[in-house]
Amino acid sequence: MQDVYFKKTNTQDTNELSKIAKQLFHKIIQDKDIKLEKDAVIKVHFGEKGNETYLPANIYNELITYLKENNSSPSYIETNVLYRGARTNRTNHIKLAKEHGFTQIPILIADGEIGEDYYEAEINKQFFKTCKIAKEYQKHNQVIVCSHFKGHIVAGFGGALKQLGMGFAARGGKLAQHSQMKPSVKPEKCILCGLCVEKCDVKAIELKEYAVIDHNTCVGCAGCIAVCPQGAISHDWNATNFQERLMEYAYAAQQNKTNIYISFLINITKDCDCMGEKMPLITNNIGVMVSLNPVAIDSACLDIVQQESKQNLFEAGRNSLKYAEEIGLGSTKYRIIEV
Ligand code: SF4
Ligand code: SF4
Repeated sequence: MQDVYFKKTNTQDTNELSKIAKQLFHKIIQDKDIKLEKDAVIKVHFGEKGNETYLPANIYNELITYLKENNSSPSYIETNVLYRGARTNRTNHIKLAKEHGFTQIPILIADGEIGEDYYEAEINKQFFKTCKIAKEYQKHNQVIVCSHFKGHIVAGFGGALKQLGMGFAARGGKLAQHSQMKPSVKPEKCILCGLCVEKCDVKAIELKEYAVIDHNTCVGCAGCIAVCPQGAISHDWNATNFQERLMEYAYAAQQNKTNIYISFLINITKDCDCMGEKMPLITNNIGVMVSLNPVAIDSACLDIVQQESKQNLFEAGRNSLKYAEEIGLGSTKYRIIEV
């Protein structure tokens, strides 16, 4: 059973949340006698252009100060995204991060200019024998993985495990996780608005009597599903084993690491921070959690969000946790230490 440190708060004040994160981080460092690495890296998500619910830059201020006070020189670490947008290549990614205020410390884009820098991590699991993990990540034994706990159109609710599985996959690894998805359009729902065509990087969609997807060209990025205002595009997600694939990548990214996980249960939405739009919240802010295990912290976050929101949205997240536990990423059993 893993310990999960938790501070309950419904504050919206991100300076206050920053102090809480530092307090919990300090406690776990002391309690578990953790030695911080000299070049600490903080895994974050810089937020998509137009998105308003990603964790803002100032939420990391206290953690950064703490690391510096403890003889570490921290950097942010992140990888490029699969879909077309402001975070598709390193140059634009760093530019957007700075526009979003992430100027306190250097930024490392771990998979190179366009996702070409990776190493093959051997895992020998059901769906992947090896995984393409961002190369820069290999240099760091200890990463402080900061997550915004929220939903995702395919993976369901999660935080730490998604940051590991998708967040450290190089572009080819992200593609490998999505590659089985081949969405289809329900003709009766399509209003021919063309938003899916604009979103599709590989030009797999053509407007005919309705939007038609060429499955030979589609790479399964799910971008069209995210933008369709009619909910006309769908896929049989169960047939793709996406959650299992994501968890195998999380396994690859976690192996041989002594990471520390910080999860913020604030601005909790049904979809993720890659959506370039404002989204409704499903519950009030809940607080901050810190743990040494990604399965335990996601399990604790999921339980409390389900309890607080009283909504029926959590099956996909539970499936991911179950598989993560099965393949040896950690235990869903946890002990909350309220601070
Ligand atoms: S058709 Fe949709 S899922 Fe396929 S590549 Fe284009 S945007 Fe991505
Ligand atoms: S975004 Fe949806 S409604 Fe618009 S063209 Fe594509 S499938 Fe049709």
